[in-house]
Amino acid sequence: MPEYPDLEVYADALRPRLQGTPLQAVRALDPFVVRTVDPPLSALVGQTPISVRRLGKRLAIGTDGDLWLVVHLMVLGRLHFRAGPDPKVPKTALVALTNANGALWLTEAGSKRRASVHLVRGEAGLLPHLRGGLEVMTASLTEFAQALRCKRRTLKRALCDPTVLAAIGNAYSDEILHTAGLSPLQLTTNLDDAEMHRLFGAAQATLTLWRNRLHTEAGGGFPEHVTAFRPDMAVHGRYRQPCPVCAAPVQRIVYADNECNYCARCQTGGRLLADRALSQLLKDSWPRTLDDV
Ligand SMILES: [Zn+2]
Repeated sequence: MPEYPDLEVYADALRPRLQGTPLQAVRALDPFVVRTVDPPLSALVGQTPISVRRLGKRLAIGTDGDLWLVVHLMVLGRLHFRAGPDPKVPKTALVALTNANGALWLTEAGSKRRASVHLVRGEAGLLPHLRGGLEVMTASLTEFAQALRCKRRTLKRALCDPTVLAAIGNAYSDEILHTAGLSPLQLTTNLDDAEMHRLFGAAQATLTLWRNRLHTEAGGGFPEHVTAFRPDMAVHGRYRQPCPVCAAPVQRIVYADNECNYCARCQTGGRLLADRALSQLLKDSWPRTLDDV
C-alpha cells in the first residue's frame, strides 16, 4: 500500500498539474470504484482544483466549488498522468480526469476492486476519511510517545495502525524499526525513554530519506513506479539478502498474507523471532539464534 513517501510525492506531482486549471471532463470507467452518488462526479466539470492534500493514506483534491475528491489507493491502486491535449486514457483506467494540461487516471492491478473514490462537499465531508493517526513529521516526541504507549502491543502493529500513526504501513515500518535497531515484536509499553527517542528519530529520518529519494527519482515527472519493494531498502522485501549495516541475512516473520522483515543482529540481539506457523511445524529443530542457522 502506498505510504507516506509515495503519497507525498504523488501530492507534489498533482499540485502543478491540477491546481488552477479547470476540469474539462471527469469519467468513471468502472462505476464501482466511485462509492458516493451525491454529488455526482459530473459536478466536478468546470470546477478548478485549488488544493491537494494527503489525509493519512488517502489523497484529497479540493476545488473552488468546495467539492473534494478523496482517492484511497489501498494496496494496488496507482495514479497516472499523461500530458498533452486530450491524451489517450487506457482501457484499464477506472476513473479519469481531464484538463488543459492532460489526463489523470486511476488504475488497480488484479480483479479485486478495493481502491475507492469518494466525492464529498466541504471540509465536513472529509471528516469520515480521517483515521485519527498522528502525522509523524509534524508531531513532537511527547505526542509520538503518547500515541504509541496508549495501547500495549507490538511495535510492528502499532506503527502500522492508521489510528495511531498516519500513512505508515508494512514497508516503512520495517525500515523504521531497522533504523531504530528495535525488534518488531517489542511491546510499546516496554520501550524506555531512550528507545522511544530513537524510534521517533528513526521514523522521521526514514520518512524524510524516502520522500527525498522518491522525489529525486521522479525528477519533476509524474511518479509512475510506485511500489512497496525497492532494492535499496534495508530489510523490507529483502528476506535472506544481506543487511546493509551488518551483512547478516535478513529474517522474516510470516503472518496472514503479509511478512515482516528484520535483521536479527541489528534488531533482536541475534535472536530469531519465531514464525508461528513454521516454528510449530519444526518444533525443537527451529533455530533460536542467528548462530544456530
Ligand atoms: Zn543488520
